[in-house]
Amino acid sequence: MVGKKVTNGQIESALNTFLAAGDCLVLGFEKDGTAMRHRVFKNTLENMSVTNHIFALNGGIYLRRLFSKGAKIILLLRPCEIRSYVELVKLSQIEAENIIAVSVDCSGTISSKADDVPVDGGYDVLSQDPGRARFACANCRERRGVVGDAGIRRDVNGQYWVLPYTEKGGTFLALIEGPEEEVSAHMAVPAAGKGAVFQVDMAEFAKDFSRCIMCMNCRDMCPVCYCVDCVFNGDDYLPKGDALFNKIFRTGSTEMPRGRDLFHLIRMYHVSQTCVGCGACEEACPQGIPLTKYFKGVSERLQGMFAYMSGRSPEEPLPFVTFLEDELKDAAD
Ligand code: SF4
Ligand code: SF4
Ligand code: SF4
Repeated sequence: MVGKKVTNGQIESALNTFLAAGDCLVLGFEKDGTAMRHRVFKNTLENMSVTNHIFALNGGIYLRRLFSKGAKIILLLRPCEIRSYVELVKLSQIEAENIIAVSVDCSGTISSKADDVPVDGGYDVLSQDPGRARFACANCRERRGVVGDAGIRRDVNGQYWVLPYTEKGGTFLALIEGPEEEVSAHMAVPAAGKGAVFQVDMAEFAKDFSRCIMCMNCRDMCPVCYCVDCVFNGDDYLPKGDALFNKIFRTGSTEMPRGRDLFHLIRMYHVSQTCVGCGACEEACPQGIPLTKYFKGVSERLQGMFAYMSGRSPEEPLPFVTFLEDELKDAAD
């Protein structure tokens, strides 16, 4: 693999060259206080940070239905954010033509809901105490900046590299001064192991989700839960009027809020091929329900059945829209 060694200054200077061409934008992180915010930069990169170790949400959510109308955009985001971008492109929710997606090595993130959110972006806290990482990060399938058009990676000697993966990634690399060279050292963030497989225990599921108040924040903050006309807007999916009275008289009582299990099971089914395991749903839940283990668990098992990994490659077809005559031989009719 060939790339270029870079310093932070060189990345900034490359982005400035990009912005100076006009009609160009950079979406990255703001280095300000707790640095939780994503920010779009147009004229200046003042206060931009390439990394952010405090997780409030997945920036892929800002990219939904992004049609750049001629503007060129560089995304500098975490691997799980770029993976959700790749899925949204495949789902025709983003026009990728003028976008260069750059994933940055991620050593994990701390929840923005922590009582003592660090003011320095979180890197020092996390390196001293890796146990502070969110559940999603401790079990992350891909922390390496190896997805999208290019990656910013750090080797074991602390040297940063820009590596191109596509032609557009080559355009990004060309913005950086200096010679291309073969990557010689190992990278500091290694490939993830097989990871834990989370089995869904329905008794535990019922107990955890009994705390759900159906605020639907988990849906609203999920980057790949993108339907405009969600079936769970309004209450058309619930029995009402006579049907509801019949149900109450027939069963003697009905649980409130209604439709809770249906909501989660349908959402789980809808995102199962595209979930990137980012944990934004859990971060958004006011009830502290451990959503990641359920959504990540179900989706990774399903993706495994189709040898698919969400966001790994734009070339990998979505399993649900791919018909293969000879697959899932063990599945019951
Ligand atoms: S889920 Fe993975 S890529 Fe996303 S913030 Fe956590 S460690 Fe980084
Ligand atoms: S379901 Fe949760 S973990 Fe999966 S992509 Fe959506 S927000 Fe991320
Ligand atoms: S965010 Fe939490 S409380 Fe709200 S609907 Fe989702 S699981 Fe239920």
